[in-house]
Amino acid sequence: MSGKAFFFEKKKQKTFTSYAGHVPYRATGAGIKSLLVLFFRKEHAFFKNGVLVSLIIIGAGIGGLAAALSLLRAGADVQVFEQAAALGEVGAGLTLSRGAIQCCEHLGVGAELRRYLAPAGDFAFLHYRTGAVLPAPPRAGEEPHDGHIYRPDLHAILADAVRAFGAERIVLGKRLAGVTQTGGTVTAQFADGTSATGAALIGADGARSAVRREVFGEGLPEFTGKIAYRFMLPAEQAGAFAEVGGPACLFVGRGQVFNRYLVSRGRLLNCVGIMRSDAGAPDGWNGAATVDDVLAAFEGWHPSVRALIGRAPPDRLIKWGIFARAPREGWVQGRVALLGDAAHPMQPFLGLGAAMAIEDATVLGRAFAAFADIDEALAVYARRRIPRANAVMEFSKRQGDLFDTTDPADFPPRGAPSHDPSVGAFDPEEGLLF
Ligand SMILES: Cc1cc2nc3c(=O)[nH]c(=O)nc-3n(C[C@H](O)[C@H](O)[C@H](O)COP(=O)(O)OP(=O)(O)OC[C@H]3O[C@@H](n4cnc5c(N)ncnc54)[C@H](O)[C@@H]3O)c2cc1C
Repeated sequence: MSGKAFFFEKKKQKTFTSYAGHVPYRATGAGIKSLLVLFFRKEHAFFKNGVLVSLIIIGAGIGGLAAALSLLRAGADVQVFEQAAALGEVGAGLTLSRGAIQCCEHLGVGAELRRYLAPAGDFAFLHYRTGAVLPAPPRAGEEPHDGHIYRPDLHAILADAVRAFGAERIVLGKRLAGVTQTGGTVTAQFADGTSATGAALIGADGARSAVRREVFGEGLPEFTGKIAYRFMLPAEQAGAFAEVGGPACLFVGRGQVFNRYLVSRGRLLNCVGIMRSDAGAPDGWNGAATVDDVLAAFEGWHPSVRALIGRAPPDRLIKWGIFARAPREGWVQGRVALLGDAAHPMQPFLGLGAAMAIEDATVLGRAFAAFADIDEALAVYARRRIPRANAVMEFSKRQGDLFDTTDPADFPPRGAPSHDPSVGAFDPEEGLLF
C-alpha cells in the first residue's frame, strides 16, 4: 500500500479518505506517552514499516461489530461496510453463553451488557403437553450464567462502542459484490461501484456470505427442512402465561420445541417455535406467517404455549427457514478470513450463533494484538477458533437430532449438549498458541 494505510475509493471520482492515524489513541483515551510507545513499537501488528495497518470488515451484524471493536481496541485501523442503509431494530432474542458474556467483558462492554441482559436462570425444560418440568442435571454451576438479550439492544451496544472510535468506522449502504487480492492488499468491490482497499478483509456477512462465495467459491447453505416461527410480546400482554416455567424455559415435543424468555430488562417476551416443515424454505429472516398457522402447528401443546401464540401480534409474527452448511476446515484464503455465521452458521438448537461470533471476534483482536505479522495473526485466529466453532456446530446439530428422536418424557437424554456446561464455556484470556 502507498502512504495511505486505508482508502475508500469512489470509481471515476477518485476520492480517497484515510482513516489511519490518531483515532485509536483518542478513543482509547491513551495519553501522548502511550502514543509514543506505540509509535516506536513498529514491530507491532498495527504498524507495518511505520504505516498503520488497516482492516476491512464486511457486515455490521453482531460478529462484524464485535470484531471491529476487538480490533480497534487492539489498535488496528478498521472500517466496517454494511449492506443495509441503516442499522435498524432488526431481530428478536439472542442467547449469550457464559463464554460470550466474558468476551463482552473483555471487549469493554460488560457493564452496558449487564444493563440489558436477562439471566437465563435454570432454564427449565418442560413437557410440551403437561408442562411438567423434565428432570435434568443443573445446567451450569459457575458464574456468570447464560443470559438472554434483545438483538437490537446488543447490536446498539456494539455499534455505539465502535462509533466511539469515530462515526466513520461503520459505512452503510455498501453491499459487497466482489473481492480481489494483490500483493498483500485486499480490495472489496461494492454493488454501487465504489471499492475499499486494506491489508486484510474479514467476512462477517452472515450465513449467506458473499465473501465466502467470492473467495472460497461456495454456494448457499442448504435448507434443513426445519423452520422457526418467532414473535415478541410486550411482557404485560403475556401476563401469567409468561410465568409458567420461570423467566426462561423450553417446551419439548417430539421433533418440535417452543422456547420463550424475557429480554430487554423484562420488557419483552421472546417466543420461538421450531419444527419440521414440508412446505419448503422461507427466505431470509422475515417470512410471513399467520397466528392460525402457528396455532395449527402447536395443536395439543400446553395451554400457556397456545395462549402466547394466540396473543402474537399478527404483523410481527415471522417465519424463518433453518439453513446449514457442513463444517469448514479452512477460514483463511490469502488476506481474507471468515468470522461468525459466514464461517460457521449454527443451527439454533443451542442458541449459540451470536455467542460463537463474539468468541471469534475476541480471539481475532487478541491475535492481531499479539502477532506482528498479519498472515500469522490470521492463521492463529483460524487455528484457535476452527476446532471450537466446528465442534459447537456439530453440538447444535446433534441437539436438533435429539429433539427429533427422543421421547419428550425422556428428555434430556444422557450426554445432551444442552446440559453439558463445557459447551458454553470459553475463556477469552486463554492462550493463543497450541
Ligand atoms: C436482520 C437479522 C436478524 C436476526 N435476528 C435474529 C434473532 O432474532 N435471533 C437469533 O438468534 N439470531 C438472529 N439473527 C442471526 C444472528 O444475529 C447471527 O446468527 C449471529 O449473531 C451471528 O452473527 P453474524 O454477525 O455472523 O451474522 P449476521 O447477524 O447475520 O450479520 C451479517 C451482517 O452482514 C450483512 N451483510 C450480508 N451480506 C452482505 C454483503 N454482501 N455486503 C455487506 N454486508 C452484508 C448483513 O446485512 C448483516 O448485517 C439475525 C440476523 C440478521 C442479519
